Amino acid sequence: AKQQGRNRFNYFAPFMQEATRVRMTLVNELREAVNHDELRILFQPIIDLASGKICKAEALVRWQHPVRGLLNPAEFISIAESSGMIVGIGDWVFKQAAREVQKLQALGLPDFQVSVNKSAWQFRDDGSNYQQWLDFLQELHLNANSIIIEVTENLLLDTANSVSERMLAFQHAHMQISLDDFGTGYCSVAFLKRFDIDYIKIDPTFVSNLSEGTDGVVLCEAIIAMAHKLNIKVIAEGIETPQQLAALTAAGCDLGQGYLFSRPISGEELEKQIKNEQSP
Ligand code: C2E
Ligand code: CA
Ligand code: CA
Ligand code: CA
Repeated sequence: AKQQGRNRFNYFAPFMQEATRVRMTLVNELREAVNHDELRILFQPIIDLASGKICKAEALVRWQHPVRGLLNPAEFISIAESSGMIVGIGDWVFKQAAREVQKLQALGLPDFQVSVNKSAWQFRDDGSNYQQWLDFLQELHLNANSIIIEVTENLLLDTANSVSERMLAFQHAHMQISLDDFGTGYCSVAFLKRFDIDYIKIDPTFVSNLSEGTDGVVLCEAIIAMAHKLNIKVIAEGIETPQQLAALTAAGCDLGQGYLFSRPISGEELEKQIKNEQSP
């Protein structure tokens, strides 16, 4: 058995080394990318379903890789998290989002909000970055509720004290909180109350199952009714068809996001679209 164990080790060793090597290369490349301004930020419009107009946008990070082209977060966020680089990247995304929201509010939309994603890893700092975020908003003369923090259900279940302390601090500063990927985790209604959640984002897996007479409709209706009882607004994510939009509107959904309206776009493109809406 011992012999076999050693063989197995020998068999796996080169594979492990290769994985470690690939990971180290990525970590180094990402560090270079941050230093050489290769990160980009796109904004996906969020539409007020009652007026049909853009009222918010979600900031989504991209990596303009010199060789591999424009990379989606799936290809580098987990590396950014496990290496700790996500804290610096998150600060950068936040600042870009704040600068963009300042431009958009100046177009005559004082209530415009931009949301930023914050993963559990970003809560493992010493707390100084939270105060820096508030200071930065103040420097730009922006209200704290110009930015919405998007967190996932799993974060609320995290029993680490720092997480709930930081969440409550955001609340006290009047930053708004959006619960991302809602319905895919194990969040209870008690958490929605405790953290004073402002928005729920219905996960695309529910939205994609929205043809007439399916369970999808019932689930979305139930989520929306519950949210509204708790004074929470609902954003449906991943809307791709007019049928999905119609079903969500009929169910009383407040806001929508998805390819039907727009893919993630540059800040400039977003400003252009908003100007078009103002004077069509
Ligand atoms: P997410 O927060 O759930 O973001 C929504 C994702 O769905 C985005 O993918 C968006 O491009 C995509 N999407 C939007 N509308 C549609 C649609 O109609 N159909 C389909 N099929 N997809 C749609 P993206 O930009 O690739 O981002 C993936 C994930 O990466 C995000 O999921 C978020 O969890 C993470 N992420 C993005 N930016 C950041 C960031 O700055 N910080 C952190 N921590 N995570 C980020
Ligand atoms: Ca999100
Ligand atoms: Ca989501
Ligand atoms: Ca709140």
